[in-house]
Amino acid sequence: MVQILAEAQDLFPGGVNSPVRAFKSVGGDPIVFDKVKGAYCWDVDGNKYIDYIGSWGPAIVGAAHPEVLAALHAQLEKGTSFGAPSALENVLGRLVRDRVPSVEMMRFVNSGTEACLSVVRVMRAFTRREKILKFSGCYHGHADQFLVQAGSGVVTLGLADSPGVMPSTAAATLTAPYNDLEAVRAVFEANRDQIAGVILEPVVGNAGYIEPQPGFLQGLRELTHEHGALLCFDEVMTGFRIARGGAQDYYGITPDLTTLGKVIGGGLPVGAYGGRREILEMVAPSGPVYQAGTLSGNPLAMAAGIATLEILDRPGAYEHLQAVTSRLVQGLLQAAEETGHAACGGSINGMFGFFFAAGPVRNFEEAKRADAAKFGRFHRAMLERGVYLAPSQFEAGFTSLAHTEEDVDATIEAARESMRGL
Ligand SMILES: *Cc1c(COP(=O)(O)O)cnc(C)c1O
Repeated sequence: MVQILAEAQDLFPGGVNSPVRAFKSVGGDPIVFDKVKGAYCWDVDGNKYIDYIGSWGPAIVGAAHPEVLAALHAQLEKGTSFGAPSALENVLGRLVRDRVPSVEMMRFVNSGTEACLSVVRVMRAFTRREKILKFSGCYHGHADQFLVQAGSGVVTLGLADSPGVMPSTAAATLTAPYNDLEAVRAVFEANRDQIAGVILEPVVGNAGYIEPQPGFLQGLRELTHEHGALLCFDEVMTGFRIARGGAQDYYGITPDLTTLGKVIGGGLPVGAYGGRREILEMVAPSGPVYQAGTLSGNPLAMAAGIATLEILDRPGAYEHLQAVTSRLVQGLLQAAEETGHAACGGSINGMFGFFFAAGPVRNFEEAKRADAAKFGRFHRAMLERGVYLAPSQFEAGFTSLAHTEEDVDATIEAARESMRGL
């Protein structure tokens, strides 16, 4: 493992091909994977871990599920890429629309990042407005316009989080604190007829796990209507995970646009954006908004996504996710209480999170008050006990159909031991 990591340091910035993998916020070295199966992963030294990341979400039916692998094998024989229409795209498209009816029409892309950057282009074209509103702590991929978070104050003009993002790009991204409707109202007032749309994680997973307060999503729906702006739910993480039809199904709110990723590709690179037909008809070649992709609608990726959504549709799938996940979070919170650590957390079906903080945590500012150093020590102690948790308190955790009560109980026991030593 040490040798592989050393060589990777020489080959890739920070030794990785996506930053959180480097374990910077918890310290220590990442583990180098050899294989994954069901609820488990193995490192190259042969150590086995219970996996609560699941490739950051896609592995919801369990990693390397035999039926997903069979679908991939069957497709492999027919070719790995067409760059042309295939029936598989229609099949996955139907499965998506059946589950997420607000997605009347959609476009497949290759990542969540691509879905979100494309949907903003469409929002701007449709409304002929330039500004977008996002929430601090929400992640929508790494496109320039999203690398912005709130500074101090309520109505904050965007400041780029990353060098290389033009100030003029960042300035068109307005931000507000999550769960703060008054702040959103103030931003709309200060930018009358200029905001194309609001994009948000309907349950936040990228600032740690944060649920919307009662009335928040409904309030956004009303405010966007009132101001002629579009509402986009970024369901790249929550889609098919917190309910069959995502957060919009769970909370009963209908956005104009939706972005999808992660689960929809069943472990292969897929994203999608979709929504009201009249908006999607603006996309080329139906309309003037250009967006394209050589590997978009790739048959292997479609096959993996179809198999995954079909397995998820079997009776009891979400009940299983609910049962194991709530058992896990309750157990973790109880272990924290027994060992004298302030903690709070929650879960909805296959998504969960907890903070070393008394709580409640309603937005990114409150999340940042959690004890990050303690989480780092906890993370390392759990790794030593064979539990692979997301390497940051600002990441949600994921369960799958393969996680059992025994896995969860072993995890809680490991947590109790780990917390005693913190
Ligand atoms: C992961 C994620 C993205 C980005 O998806 P990638 O496939 O990593 O580009 C966008 N939005 C949300 C909510 C995500 O969780």
